[in-house]
Amino acid sequence: MRDSDRGTRVDALTGAVVRVAADRERRPNLPSDGCPFCVGGLESPEPYTVKAFPNRWPSLDGDRCEVVLYGPEHDRTLAEMGPERAREVIDLWADRTEVLGRRDDVAYVLIFENHGAEVGASILHAHGQVFAFAEVPPVPAGVLRRLRVGAQLLEDDPSLVVVERDGWRAWVPSAPTQPLQVRVAPLERRPDLPSLSGCERDALASVLVEVLGAFERAFASPVPYLFWVVQRPTDGRCWSSAWLHLEVSSPWRADGVLRHVAGGELGSGVMINPVPPEQQCLLLRGSR
Ligand SMILES: [Zn+2]
Repeated sequence: MRDSDRGTRVDALTGAVVRVAADRERRPNLPSDGCPFCVGGLESPEPYTVKAFPNRWPSLDGDRCEVVLYGPEHDRTLAEMGPERAREVIDLWADRTEVLGRRDDVAYVLIFENHGAEVGASILHAHGQVFAFAEVPPVPAGVLRRLRVGAQLLEDDPSLVVVERDGWRAWVPSAPTQPLQVRVAPLERRPDLPSLSGCERDALASVLVEVLGAFERAFASPVPYLFWVVQRPTDGRCWSSAWLHLEVSSPWRADGVLRHVAGGELGSGVMINPVPPEQQCLLLRGSR
């Protein structure tokens, strides 16, 4: 492979950070020789409950990409597996954050899931991913910078709260960029997944399962969604204002209808959202 095929580039004009990973184009879409994540499959020869392993088709060089399996069941989502399994997944996320974050060459651990073929999941067996970045990427860097200068994470409008219990709130942000979007955060500031107590992890598991279930059932067909975790960087700096939260969103604006981000949005940086946040909240509350 030529060096120019991989690497991080910055567009000098716009400041956009781009990771070129041309060899990912060769990854199989749907493996023809059985599911690699089922027990006995390529990545899971031995029985397991949850597990993490290096991604065979990494987007970043240097052992920075992992796959997280939520369970041996081929056709169940994290929401369907329930809060006890979600707690085990959260423990694994926290563990991977600590282990990868301890490396001198890792400044930020990003935990995320792309759920559904429409948002890029190439294998349907429930799984998420971990990216360990050498530098804090632009999105969390921007959020952390705004928190540092006084931006508030939690929003209090009761008409936008989807679930609140046991110290956690899940709400539709008042300025959502996506047609379905929810933020999940602890009411008391916690910087990252490893700093959560056992009780706090149980409560997050319960709320997260409820939120993901609400997404899946928001329309008649199973809804594709994305989520990621925003947490304290692991570069050893203080980050005293870092406040753990999850961003969950779907690009669907109606059953089976993808909202496109097009010229008006990309050309202006102003997102046009066809679904008002109050309506998003009603949709999600109604489908819990
Ligand atoms: Zn499978």
